[in-house]
Amino acid sequence: MSQTLSKKRALVTGGSRGIGAAIVRRLAREGAHIAFTYSSSAATADKLVAEVKALGVQAIAIQADSADASAVLAAVDRTVQELGGIDILVNSAGVLKMGPLDEFSLADFDQTVAVNVRAVFVATQAAAKHMRKGARIINIGSCNAERMPFQGGAVYAMSKSALQGLVQGLARDLGPRGITINNVQPGPINTDMNPDQGEFAEMLKAQYMAVQRYGSADEVAAMVAYLAGPETGYVTGASLTIDGGFNA
Ligand code: NDP
Repeated sequence: MSQTLSKKRALVTGGSRGIGAAIVRRLAREGAHIAFTYSSSAATADKLVAEVKALGVQAIAIQADSADASAVLAAVDRTVQELGGIDILVNSAGVLKMGPLDEFSLADFDQTVAVNVRAVFVATQAAAKHMRKGARIINIGSCNAERMPFQGGAVYAMSKSALQGLVQGLARDLGPRGITINNVQPGPINTDMNPDQGEFAEMLKAQYMAVQRYGSADEVAAMVAYLAGPETGYVTGASLTIDGGFNA
């Protein structure tokens, strides 16, 4: 298979597990050098670094809580220093806090906004300073930006809807420089955040999915790799849904 991202330098936030880890593996298989952040799972991150290095590319794991803007800035700086630049930024770190209106805490609201929205802006602003023509920024949003059919998901949905406005506006700022920015909006994907077994998963599959299964993190990573590649210079400001028909 030809490598579409040979010699590119990528930073993936929240890359130690789940969708982020699948993106790390896929971009590395396409030839990119990789930096990724995580918040607490150092052992898992170290294992992934070894796995990625075995593919013949550089790999570094950076502990950086996305809720801490200074840690996000430091992660971008370290990526640029150690990989020699940055061509691809994937903002995948995210948190899912569900709860009824009466009980939803301000702390959970603030953490959701800090990780799912503010960190995306902070990383994008910092990375864009180092990016050149052809660079790519991709955020992992959610199909819930457009449809939230359950109770208790308002703040999560709001945080992912915010990314739609953000990429539409930033596409205008970055377009003249030849840099694209897009969202990938997954539906239910089998990860620690949303396991594909249990009562909730079975209800989702039966009632909401056109394709009656959960997606895999690899399927999301394939769409990210496409957007990161050389053929998508005319796609920007878009929110592309990969949700098994959840929103259909
Ligand atoms: P997981 O919970 O399985 O993995 C989350 C990853 O993000 C881990 O690598 C984790 O690091 C990291 N992370 C979590 N919080 C922080 C933080 N504060 N700072 C830095 N890193 C952090 O989640 P998913 O893979 O399922 O989700 C990834 C993204 O996809 C999220 O933005 C989520 O909203 C979105 N998404 C997921 C869907 C799903 O069904 N799974 C559907 C739609 C969107 P650590 O290992 O250290 O905890």
